[in-house]
Amino acid sequence: MSIVLNGKEIAEDILKNIKSETEKFKSAPKLVIILVGDNEASQIYVRNKCLAANKAGIEAKLLTFNANTAPEVLSAQIEQLNADQNVHGIIIQLPLPPAFDADALLSQVNPLKDVDGFHPLNAGLLQNNNPAAFAPATARAVMTLLEKTGINLSGKNALVIGRSRIVGKPVAQMLLNKNCTVTIAHSKTLGLPYLLQNADIVVAACGQPKMIKGNMIKKGAVVIDVGINRDSEGKLCGDVDFETAKDVASFITPVPKGVGPMTIALLLQNTLDAYLKQKHA
Ligand code: NDP
Repeated sequence: MSIVLNGKEIAEDILKNIKSETEKFKSAPKLVIILVGDNEASQIYVRNKCLAANKAGIEAKLLTFNANTAPEVLSAQIEQLNADQNVHGIIIQLPLPPAFDADALLSQVNPLKDVDGFHPLNAGLLQNNNPAAFAPATARAVMTLLEKTGINLSGKNALVIGRSRIVGKPVAQMLLNKNCTVTIAHSKTLGLPYLLQNADIVVAACGQPKMIKGNMIKKGAVVIDVGINRDSEGKLCGDVDFETAKDVASFITPVPKGVGPMTIALLLQNTLDAYLKQKHA
């Protein structure tokens, strides 16, 4: 039977710690969230980010744009936020409607305000193991959960399933920075069961409901489930089959109440870090 890492509780502690910092400031750190279009999931994520920011003493401002907005308008808005000294963090909620060039817009955000860590400069700094990097919040959430297990990561075989720029790749990089031996699996990977049998740490971020079953995991592995999916009954679930995996893993995260709330907490931690960096620049 494994120890279930309660992301919700750990996230609450992180928010409390941020609050105890922000209380000392004359003015609150400010996070601006740009939301384009009417993607329902994005609206929920953004609302949760604003609620959590409020708890942490961070001012969150939501700027909404119609899906038909001209890309130049968005671009001009980002420039304005980049120049505004009262704005410390900027996020562009993804996905953007297809008419927008997400890469171009993300690259336009001032890297010092890039609290999502999606700017190429921050990705490069992370690759160089440079502490100045803003790491994407989900990747930071995974690493924080691993830290909570107390296990020594050095030399462990870590398998990251998924290679997206926002989750898989930065997680793999951060595990490598901690001296894990990292394997990255993706949709073209052959022999995933073999890789799973050898993995001391499994980070599942492939968006495939309950794909990883308990009998595929090495006994005692640490399993971090990033996936947020709906199962055949419409219930929220991860990429890991929690019910079977919990009997095999040493530590495991549930879905919900695992990586999700941690991601929001670490986004706000990044915002606090951005505020401190800009104040002391
Ligand atoms: P993407 O769709 O961008 O990437 C999915 C990755 O999984 C791709 O690299 C893909 O491979 C790989 N993949 C797909 N199917 C398989 C398979 N059968 N075997 C192995 N690899 C596979 O998703 P994201 O990275 O954005 O998100 C992944 C999951 O995490 C989703 O469920 C998402 O909802 C969730 N998520 C959760 C967050 C949280 O806070 N908890 C935050 C962000 C995401 P390929 O590259 O070859 O296509």
